[in-house]
Amino acid sequence: MRTLENLQMDGGCLAFNFINTVNTRKPAPEFEYLKTFGDLLTWSEKAGSLDGMRLQALREHVAEKPEDASIALNDAIDAREMLYGLFSAIAAGNPPDAAVTNAFNRRLSESFQSIHVKFGPASAEIHLNGEDVALNEPFIHVMKSAIDVLTREDIRRIKECPRCGWLFLDTSKNGKRKWCDMNVCGSREKSLEYYYRKTRRNV
Ligand SMILES: [Zn+2]
Repeated sequence: MRTLENLQMDGGCLAFNFINTVNTRKPAPEFEYLKTFGDLLTWSEKAGSLDGMRLQALREHVAEKPEDASIALNDAIDAREMLYGLFSAIAAGNPPDAAVTNAFNRRLSESFQSIHVKFGPASAEIHLNGEDVALNEPFIHVMKSAIDVLTREDIRRIKECPRCGWLFLDTSKNGKRKWCDMNVCGSREKSLEYYYRKTRRNV
């Protein structure tokens, strides 16, 4: 059974792990891991993007205002699907279309207006503005990761698994990784190839 506990986090960055909270995407999204806002918080905890204090503040807030939680969840899912469209186009070697690019840029400025930097003697840390609870907090970290990938990584290393639609950062030496997971999608493809080769030989 698919659960958040056994969800694989092997996208190579927070943004791709967030986009991969659907399984599988092809031909259409089949299983949704984020059914409630609480699931999004559980995922953030598993991903290590929110610390215990922030998680507690968010959980307390949504316990008091459940209607805010469902709005925030729908918004995060909309944003996730926008990110999938953006990175899926890049993985296919195409620039994302204007609508997706505009949506991404709008989300980027919304997210980044909540971020400020605190400096230590030899460090610079990202913090969120104020102590107030913002329900887009889990997503702000995702957007930070998305911009990091776009600006720091070779975008030719952004890949989409052809079988399930999961996104990943290809960190292999030769840059030829094709599958999200060789043991899941890769082996399924291999056994299908074997089957077809065998049946072709038999006709
Ligand atoms: Zn796959």
